[in-house]
Amino acid sequence: MQGLMMDTPLLISSLIEFAAVYHSDTELVSRTVEGPIHRYTYHEAHDRSQQLANVLTRLGVQEGERIGTLAWNTYRHFEVYYATSGMGAVCHTINPRLFTEQLIYVINHAEDAFIFVDLTFVPLLEAVQEQIKDVRGFVIMTDSEHMPDTKLPNALCYEELMAAESNDYAWPALDENAASSLCYTSGTTGNPKGVLFSHRSTVLHSYGACMADTLNISSQSVVLPVVPMFHANAWGLPYAAALCGAKMVMPGAQLDGESIHQLIEAEQANVIAGVPTVWLMLLAYLEQTGGRLDSVDSVVIGGSAAARSMIETFQNRYDATVIHAWGMTETSPLGTVGTLKRKHATLTEDERIGLQLKQGRGIYGVDLRIVGPDGNVLPRDGVAFGELQVRGPWVVRSYFKHEGEVLDDGWFPTGDVATLDAEGFMQITDRAKDVIKSGGEWISSIDLENEVLSHPEVAEAAVIGVPHPKWDERPILVVVPAPGAEPEGADILQHLEGRIAKWWMPDDVLFVEELPHTATGKISKMTLREQLADYRLPTAGAGER
Ligand code: AMP
Repeated sequence: MQGLMMDTPLLISSLIEFAAVYHSDTELVSRTVEGPIHRYTYHEAHDRSQQLANVLTRLGVQEGERIGTLAWNTYRHFEVYYATSGMGAVCHTINPRLFTEQLIYVINHAEDAFIFVDLTFVPLLEAVQEQIKDVRGFVIMTDSEHMPDTKLPNALCYEELMAAESNDYAWPALDENAASSLCYTSGTTGNPKGVLFSHRSTVLHSYGACMADTLNISSQSVVLPVVPMFHANAWGLPYAAALCGAKMVMPGAQLDGESIHQLIEAEQANVIAGVPTVWLMLLAYLEQTGGRLDSVDSVVIGGSAAARSMIETFQNRYDATVIHAWGMTETSPLGTVGTLKRKHATLTEDERIGLQLKQGRGIYGVDLRIVGPDGNVLPRDGVAFGELQVRGPWVVRSYFKHEGEVLDDGWFPTGDVATLDAEGFMQITDRAKDVIKSGGEWISSIDLENEVLSHPEVAEAAVIGVPHPKWDERPILVVVPAPGAEPEGADILQHLEGRIAKWWMPDDVLFVEELPHTATGKISKMTLREQLADYRLPTAGAGER
């Protein structure tokens, strides 16, 4: 027997429509790329999203077409999110930190029809315009006064396009399983892979993000996502904020400690979200200036592990509760969230922080398991560790354009190695692949090694990540010289210039006579890390990018 309830599709347009009606005067505040602070309401954001949907229609954008964005967190990017998905197109957020080859690859692989681009990123596109010839036009996200003199063909001005349209637009009744947005992950090997979200997965993820036991977002919240809208959709916050009518503050291009602190104070942000690297910058600024975080209730930390000292500083010195979360682009991204249970009130502070250091616990909507090397499901005892696998309505089933089978018996293998305890808390113990996490982004050790190996004086090379005070990790290169050769470190680094993204450049080069190997002849990174456990980076300021 079927239930007799309405089958209303879960659509992204319904989020902004809801906010416009039920939270019409709640504000969205942005630091613009041009400089000044911009503020308007959900009501106006909805009007302008409809106006932008008319722009897209006028430009000939069809349902299912991909619209690229290269943009910071601002109100215009927010409008592009809602207008593209709302009208049935797919919002493809491009990470400007991809190195040139990957940038070209994702634009062509996604077959972006148009690209909406912030002033900051116009030169990035100009540099590759010959290789992305199928893009029909570039919409520069500014007004006529700030339009740059650009070489991009068919460059259009966002505000001029908007001025020509009305906001008379009815959102179409799409299939809730239709594609709504696309994010590429920069994997460790091979080309980036596209995760294609649907309206349904996005709306369900937004409910999941707002729950009291997860990020606890409501109409009482002032949410400041420092995490970029080009990284896993700013962890879904632009959708979750609309779902519950939270005020949202978008920091634009300025992510330094001072700028973020100014926004927190001026707008009384109470939920702030970002990767450890941005919090290190904020904490350093507070330390220097004696600044406080009086308005902040919670600091969401994800993307890489939150360190004990960071959790302690936020909680003890600034009275802001840390919510340590784990996720990945493939999980929309919320996977586990480290809020405590009622019973944990009796824990000592040390025990409580011990629990918060874990990557969080399972939430409704994401089922977790860990699997041993022979495919057996391991016990949830907090000791056994294996590959973390997840499943649920906002977890990827297949990559864009179906590049190979990804599921293992209906579960998504995450590539992270973890323990699970009886409470549902998950702790990452290692990464299945040896990616280097720097400033919340990936650096592929394998890609780097391959480039190094093309140097004639290098016999063998390994890249590993070492801890860095600002960027979490930075790569260092360990080289076995070719027989008879005596290469210089600087020489090898120069060889890498132009072949890799600047911020991938290893911070140091060490020479050894031989590298440790596993039984199957592969370089044993685990042993190498152990051998270099006492190694320290030569410069504290290394790794600027
Ligand atoms: P991305 O898809 O770029 O967001 O990267 C996802 C990966 O980041 C995960 O597979 C983890 O390896 C890592 N990650 C995310 N959150 C955490 C965390 N809280 N602690 C440690 N690693 C994390």
